[in-house]
Amino acid sequence: MSDVKLYTAADEQAMRIALDQAHNAWLAGEVPVGAVIMRHGQVIATGYNRPITTHDPTAHAEIVALRHASQLLSNYRLPECELFVTLEPCAMCAMALMHARFKRVVFAATDPKTGVAGSVIDLFANRQLNHHTDIIGGVLAEASSQMLKQFFAERRTQIKAQRDERRAASSRQALHGMDVIEGEAEPPLDLIPIGQVIEEPDQHSPIEMLRS
Ligand SMILES: [Zn+2]
Repeated sequence: MSDVKLYTAADEQAMRIALDQAHNAWLAGEVPVGAVIMRHGQVIATGYNRPITTHDPTAHAEIVALRHASQLLSNYRLPECELFVTLEPCAMCAMALMHARFKRVVFAATDPKTGVAGSVIDLFANRQLNHHTDIIGGVLAEASSQMLKQFFAERRTQIKAQRDERRAASSRQALHGMDVIEGEAEPPLDLIPIGQVIEEPDQHSPIEMLRS
């Protein structure tokens, strides 16, 4: 592996803003993907993934940020802009960015399931489609994929806890029905373990589960 970096400290700084946006998506219950659009080193617009909350299948982080930037600059083409996104773009977002004539797109983690910057196909490399937009990946990739992994691990734990709670409730009802525990006090709260994390094996890579 070469140590030569194709990106700068300013790229990493912009990607940190995109990662903050990804965290906003997480807080809204969406898959954590975030984006920021920069022009001459200045933030023009931000966006995070929100298809569930807005009932809009096109509301990927890139599209949300792109709409804000176009409105702000009153232009459907943004040739001086660069977009930073925490996950490799899908075909819809890639084409939208090319239509807008973005100067450059920088992404963090790859998406083996729907990424079109080299993972599934490489739309950006197709000269019939793209004459304008440079692309690079791998900027703070580890931070982005860790966030996605944690999001899906947390979601699995929540689903398991809800299932366990339902089972416990139905067995308590059955016991009460038989009067078996009459007179028995509930255990004091400090004896109930809190915050135990149940580790489950990774069944799928989180990225494979995206937008499926
Ligand atoms: Zn997309």
